[in-house]
Amino acid sequence: MAPRFVVRTFGCQMNEHDSERLAGLLAAEGMEPADGVDDADVLVFNTCCIRENADNRLYGELGRLKELADRKPGLTIAVGGCLAQKDGARILERAPHVDVVFGTHNLSRVPELLRRSALEGPLCEVPDQPDPDAPPLHLTALRDLPYAAWVTIQTGCDNSCAFCIVPSVRGREISRHLDEVVTEVEGLAARGVVEVTLLGQNVNSYGRDLTHRSPLFSELLRRVGAVEGIERVRFTSPHPKDLRPETIAAMAETPAVCEQLHLPLQSGSDRVLALMRRGYTAERYLRRLAAVRAVVPDLAVTTDLIVGFPGETEDDFEATLEVVAEAAYDSAYTFVFSPRPGTRAADMVESFVPPEVAKERFERLRSVVERSALGRHETRVGRHETVLVEGPSRKEPTMLSGRTRQGKLAHFAPPKANGVAPGSFAEVVVTGAAPHHLRADWVALVAPPRHRMRIPVQVR
Ligand code: SF4
Repeated sequence: MAPRFVVRTFGCQMNEHDSERLAGLLAAEGMEPADGVDDADVLVFNTCCIRENADNRLYGELGRLKELADRKPGLTIAVGGCLAQKDGARILERAPHVDVVFGTHNLSRVPELLRRSALEGPLCEVPDQPDPDAPPLHLTALRDLPYAAWVTIQTGCDNSCAFCIVPSVRGREISRHLDEVVTEVEGLAARGVVEVTLLGQNVNSYGRDLTHRSPLFSELLRRVGAVEGIERVRFTSPHPKDLRPETIAAMAETPAVCEQLHLPLQSGSDRVLALMRRGYTAERYLRRLAAVRAVVPDLAVTTDLIVGFPGETEDDFEATLEVVAEAAYDSAYTFVFSPRPGTRAADMVESFVPPEVAKERFERLRSVVERSALGRHETRVGRHETVLVEGPSRKEPTMLSGRTRQGKLAHFAPPKANGVAPGSFAEVVVTGAAPHHLRADWVALVAPPRHRMRIPVQVR
């Protein structure tokens, strides 16, 4: 019987897609996806280290696996990704039942590392640089969904935001060639994929390392948007300082590009933004946002916000609340600052904000964001929307869920139980609003799914 594997993902969409690539590599080795952890012969953890609680979660999870590893001597455990890049061999010290540690630059070597560890015992290989001879990973990705796909266009980041560990674990920006990305998207469209999300740490600086001219991202948006069969194009995450007029024009002029923009603000205080080394002021941020809204009607805007950055005063925090109110976000990922070792902000110990102050600000910010999100969603009540059907709702399995072009999750009753396949486009009418979703009534099927193949969904 073929060995069975599970890839568990911690972290962002970039990691989710890396996990699809890891799953593809393991499947190419003749392994099969397992139904769950207890059922697996190989367990791969693809980790994140952006926030401290991601570290804690991973080490907690590894600790709990000790008992399973003792019970199943043939079980192989591999840990890779950002945390492995940061901690390296320390993972083997803290969890000696781990067999393989790999980094962010050598995903394609994982099958080889698994084979070697079976012969040589536990090993750790975490190179500092990408391997130029590594085979292209996207060719083997075992994607979770047959109708929507992530496409990595760039890895690494050349910025140096004071709070962020990404540049040290993911390295310098490396863009994939434009034709290679377009060819990948054409291949996906030929298999019936209708939605792609372009991924990068700083997507709108895409191509700077290839041509030293930035508008390449706008060219990419137009080329990807023109691929026959691709109905929706999304991208994440752009940096406000690199949001150029060419990109805004491409968003407005490419019908497939969705009316959705995730534009991380982080703070609304110019003083804190300077401490964070973000490269823009609140006013410049709002001006750029207004420029997009002026040409992309019905734009949904989401953001990332950090409260309690070292040195943040009550006035700074109030400035954030003001910008949040003015930006009228559809939703926001809000975080309390957590110092990451090796970052500039981690050394600003003398100006750390007391945890109880940060927590109180976090709660105030969250309620402002939720009010804003609810207000934005209420304006959609009564409107007809086209959703891409995802499947049964997680909260109410008798309902279906789908996403609008703005990325909003809508829950609705199907015409008959489970009668609409995931990957279909459906028209619904919005009947209710909540801060994180819409409720809707079924109107009509717009288009059935185009994909022919059902790829097994992996256990997370
Ligand atoms: S732009 Fe800043 S926050 Fe984003 S990945 Fe790069 S360094 Fe981190």
